[in-house]
Parts: sequence; structure tokens; C-alpha cells
Amino acid sequence: MSAIRDFPMIIGGRSVPAEDGAWMESDFPFTREPWCRVPRGRAADANRAVKAAHEAFHDSSWSGLTPTARGKLLFRLADLVEDRAQELAELEVWDNGKRVTEMAGQLRRIPDWYRYFGGLADKVQGDVLPNENQAVLNITQRVPLGVVVAITPWNSPLLLAAYKLAPALAAGNTIVLKPSEFTSASSLAFGALFKEAGFPDGVVNVVSGLGNEIGEALVSNPRVAKVSFTGGEAGGRAVYKLAAEHFHDVALELGGKSPNIVFPDANLDSAANGVMAGIFAATGQTCIAGSRLLVHEDIHDQVVEAVVARSSNVRMGDPLNPETQMAPVATEAQYAKILDCIEMAKAEGATCRLGGRSKQGPECGKGLFIEPTVFTGVTNDMRIAREEVFGPVLSVIKFRDEAEAIAIANDTDYGLAAGLWTKDLQRAVRVSGQLQAGSVWVNMYRAISYTSPFGGFKKSGVGRENGIEAINEYLQTRSVWFNTADHVPNPFEVK
Ligand code: NAD
Repeated sequence: MSAIRDFPMIIGGRSVPAEDGAWMESDFPFTREPWCRVPRGRAADANRAVKAAHEAFHDSSWSGLTPTARGKLLFRLADLVEDRAQELAELEVWDNGKRVTEMAGQLRRIPDWYRYFGGLADKVQGDVLPNENQAVLNITQRVPLGVVVAITPWNSPLLLAAYKLAPALAAGNTIVLKPSEFTSASSLAFGALFKEAGFPDGVVNVVSGLGNEIGEALVSNPRVAKVSFTGGEAGGRAVYKLAAEHFHDVALELGGKSPNIVFPDANLDSAANGVMAGIFAATGQTCIAGSRLLVHEDIHDQVVEAVVARSSNVRMGDPLNPETQMAPVATEAQYAKILDCIEMAKAEGATCRLGGRSKQGPECGKGLFIEPTVFTGVTNDMRIAREEVFGPVLSVIKFRDEAEAIAIANDTDYGLAAGLWTKDLQRAVRVSGQLQAGSVWVNMYRAISYTSPFGGFKKSGVGRENGIEAINEYLQTRSVWFNTADHVPNPFEVK
């Protein structure tokens, strides 16, 4: 990294700074030195982005396209993302400090989101409805909503944007995308690809700035039809309230406190690996982190020993080095929060079996590293078992039998994901059917696909992303009635 790079916003097909000329710097979490600047957009920028998206929605260059033509644009976009995958992945690493192998893996998969929904664009169909009057033909049409505001967090900017943009564009909507203030570069660079792919100007606009500045201005704009938000509880609540003022349609993808349940008959070697993948991948900075390990009392010590032994020599270091196994925490605020949670767990009486500290050393640069941390002796009423940490902190909770495991798993405000490990097929079917979570993984963890619905029960969210039905989140139904009778009777003569 040498000179600081500037990434302008994309509004109406043009690369623009903020109207008042303000910029924000973004630090590389490994060196904690600025590497790029992005515009600090405010209300005026929100308004011009929504205006551009609104005009594009009504312009025949977009609204007049056949669904097949829209799909082809998405295919072209997918090809461009594929060509730039490594470059976009590295922008994400500089912004959020996650491992380059993980971000490159995400970028390699993202084109398939655009291809999958591009292929769906011309498979959206209405119905012909039965009617008691044979002279009436009643049909339904599935039509787009209008301007969709997509708001994303810092952990996986372009993947989470794809969950929203791919179905919304396939359905014929236009977009204003606002990435996290910590990780805007990749989304701004991605925004420039839409012109190259042949999308009309204004169909996709990408703005940057703070949540409580440009974010709230976007959500408050009356021309917006839908807000699709991924982030934390506080932001989600603020967005939900603001959107209600305007009766905007809303989708929320929020946090979790997901249980990963290990039964005594499981393949314990695989289960230990699945537990580590669930909590330590992405330094625990993932909404679906399996942050509560529920383990049967008979195998408790064995599973804990395996997880502790395998996690104790994790290679921490530069996220751009493909050999690195664990990367720094993304932001100072997040680092402080994780350390606070660790202190809270100790104060509550949990036993720290691994980690529980920050880590420094030449391999860590100036990054904010936290060791993989395992707490045993946790009970489900402790705050460490109830609050989302969003860091590499595992809480181990013992259970005695299946009923107790299910009760503990479901005793949470959240319901994003759950894992269970067993070789007993009957148990797998029985337990998976009782877990209150939007995604349940059996003998695996942390799997996500464009083909499979994703979203939260309870406080983990509203609505679903991914899978065929996700396109319905961006469509509304018009019921059209045709009278084919020769004559409409005088209403005053109707008996
Ligand atoms: P955050 O809520 O602080 O920010 C998310 C986005 O919302 C950012 O772009 C931010 O600028 C914007 N924002 C914040 N307040 C806003 C407001 N009042 N109005 C409009 N926009 C606002 O979340 P974060 O710290 O970036 O991300 C971490 C959180 O995201 C965790 O809770 C995690 O579980 C959650 N998350 C959920 C999913 C999922 O799919 N369910 C995926 C990834 C992350």
C-alpha cells in the first residue's frame, strides 16, 4: 500500500464526491493506518441517490426491458465480478481485516448469486384466477416495488449486498446501496461495474457515510419503497422505526446467539472441527457464529479438550498472508466490546479454558488481535450466553438429555442459526424440527447458498434472503380484472 486511494460514490451513473466535499478515512486493521478515503455522504447525497434511482425506475431504458434482458445484464455483471474477484476481495481485506482466503472465497461465489437470480428474472409469473362471473377474466401480475435501499454491515460487504441486489434487480427494482462506514471501498468499486455491464444509469447507486447521517436520510426518504437492512440490533431497531413513519416495506437480517449442540453419539472429531469453524472462523465476526456450545455431560470434557487443543496454536497474523489462520478484529469499538464481554464472563463465574486475552507480537503488526477464547461452566442465564459478542468467544454449556438441550437452545431472544451433531437419524430429524432458528445444520455448520432461504426467527430478523422465494420479497401483486361482457348494466336497474 502506498498512496491513499479515493473511492467516489456512484450516483446516476457518475462517480461523485459528497456534495459538501467531506471524506472519511478507512484504516487497514492490521496496520491501523489509513489506506483509502470514501465520501462522507449526508442527507443531500441520500436525496440525489434516491432521486436517481427513482427516475431510473420509471425510465423505459430500465422499466421497458424484458425480464430476459434484465437477466442478461445480471449475467454480464457476474462475469465482471468474476474477472475482478481477487481485486475486490483485497479491497475488503484492507477495509475489514478478514483473511484474504475467506474474502477471496466469498468473491468467487458471489457471481453465482447474480447468475441464479438473473436466471429467475423471466420465471416470475402471475396467475389466472377463478371468478364467479364467467364474463370476467381476473389475472395477477407480479411487479417490482420501486427504489430499494440496501444497507450492509462491515463483515462481508459484497456477499451481503448480493443477497439483496441480485433478487431486487432481477425483479426490476432500482437500488441505493449503503455499505458500512468502515468498509465502503469494495461496494463503491463494485458500483462502477454496473455501467460496464450495460445497466442504465441510476439503476444502481452506491453511497457512503455514517448510519445516523446518510443511512437515516435514505430510510426517511418518502420515494423509497423498501429498506433491506443487515446489521446489529440497535441499527435494525432504528431503521424499523424510521421506515414505519413512511410505511416502507422492511427486511431485517440481524444478529444471533446460535447454539451448536453435540450429542454423545456424534462423530466427536468432526463435531470439534465444526465447533471451531462455527466460532473462530472470521474471528467470530459472523452473524451465524455458533457462540453457544451445548454439549452432553458425558462427552463434555472430551469435546472441550479437543477444541482447546486444536485452537491453542492458531496462526494469527497479516490477513493478506494466505497462511494466516486468524485475523485481527475489524474495529477498535468491536475489540473493546469483545474484551468487555470476556471480563463480564469472568465476573459471572465462567471458567476461562483458553485465551481470554488480547495478543501482541511481531506477527500481529499493529492489529487488534484476540486469542480464541473458550469459557466452560457457563449457564444459559449468564449474559455471556445471551448477548451477541461478535468475536472469537465460545461459551460451553452442559446438558443432560435431549429435551434439556432443545430447551436451552431455544431459550434465547435470537433465532438465526443452530447446529447439531449426531449419528442418530431419528434424533437428527426430531431435534432439527424443534429448533427455533432460520437455518439448522446437521453434522455441518456455517453453510450458506443462493439456493437456500436464509433469515432469522425471533429477534434475528424479518424476511428471508436467498433461494427462489427471495425474489418475492422484491415484488408486489397487482390484481387486474377484465370485463368481457358486451354490456355493463345500469346500476339502478340491477336487481
Ligand atoms: P450496524 O448495525 O452497526 O451497521 C450496519 C449498517 O447499518 C451500516 O451500514 C451502518 O452504517 C448502518 N446503520 C447503523 N445505524 C443506522 C441507522 N440508524 N439508520 C440507517 N442505517 C444505519 O452493524 P455492524 O456493526 O456493521 O455489523 C455487525 C452486526 O451485523 C452484528 O450484529 C451481526 O450479527 C449483524 N449481521 C447480521 C447478518 C445477517 O445476515 N443476519 C449478517 C452479517 C452481520
